[in-house]
Amino acid sequence: MSTIIEARNLSRFYEVRRGLFAEPATVRALSEASFRVTQGTTLAVVGESGCGKSTLARLLTMIEPPSGGELVIDGKKLGATGHADLKALRKTVQIVFQDPYGSLNPRQKIGAILEEPLKINTDMPSRERREKAFDMLIKVGLRPEHYGRYPHMFSGGQRQRIAIARALMLDPKILILDEPVSALDVSIQAQILNILADLQEELGLTYIFISHDLSVVRFVADEVMVMYLGRPVEFAPVEAVFESPQHPYTVALLSATPVADPRRKRQNIKLEGELPSPINPPSGCPFHPRCRYARDKCSDIRPELTLHGQTLVACHGIEEGWIDYAAEPPPPGAALSGERAGTTPQAPDAAVRAPEPGSPV
Ligand code: SF4
Repeated sequence: MSTIIEARNLSRFYEVRRGLFAEPATVRALSEASFRVTQGTTLAVVGESGCGKSTLARLLTMIEPPSGGELVIDGKKLGATGHADLKALRKTVQIVFQDPYGSLNPRQKIGAILEEPLKINTDMPSRERREKAFDMLIKVGLRPEHYGRYPHMFSGGQRQRIAIARALMLDPKILILDEPVSALDVSIQAQILNILADLQEELGLTYIFISHDLSVVRFVADEVMVMYLGRPVEFAPVEAVFESPQHPYTVALLSATPVADPRRKRQNIKLEGELPSPINPPSGCPFHPRCRYARDKCSDIRPELTLHGQTLVACHGIEEGWIDYAAEPPPPGAALSGERAGTTPQAPDAAVRAPEPGSPV
């Protein structure tokens, strides 16, 4: 399958002032992110709040231009395209937001909400717009009679279905799913994830699934990109991330993910300290102030992403072999049940289908 998104050293910086007479400072929200996404697959982007996930979403949806680097979407390089090409490209990428309550206009009926993108971007006659809205309601598991109702008449899960339907009205190839289920009940989450899986299969969609919830990511992603302080630190097929995480930050994130099986326990790694400020990121490896494996080199030299097995990882300890998770003794009282510390050995939820793994960059 072909590459539909390619980012090379993609960066986004913001100038901020911290006082009337203060010199402007630079917030490095995203720094030198390079990755590829294959058409028809799902890339999950994970990390703590402030790691650059939402900035990446804004760049991919072309809401903001990058400060540096290159972004190629569907074969077209941003910045090298004319106005008409950019307008067409914007239809290719659509976004579904986290909050199904805030993302729909409460004064518009569902039909008007669904038809609005067609009204703005096409000259489709009203009868065809209406038919397309009916079709899309059925595709997301709603009924044609919902066309004439208002958003407040729906539950959170139904509203998120409407948001997905609206995002699909322009026949995009790529959906940016910005925490699409984190505001929903767990039982509703599975329904929405199944609808997304069905739509992906039927329409050949590519998903960028932004989430802080690794237990969800496991069952939707083909590949996972872990970000820390605006930089990718690990990129791998989903099985590799969950079965053999490499970067100490990924291991800590996974250790904080709840395990569904009470017979299985794992090492709980507490991340010390706060996420540093992107205005003044630490030298060398940005994770070194919180890393229990850090050595002198880590504060001096920033590690580059290098390939280890199926995983691209930015860590001196992995590259030079001083990190060996398998050799670590389990903490007192933690019976690891043959699983390596830091993995998430959850039983798959039968309602959520796990997609086939994709290939690494
Ligand atoms: Fe930790 Fe050093 Fe690896 Fe950074 S480079 S994650 S500080 S061991």
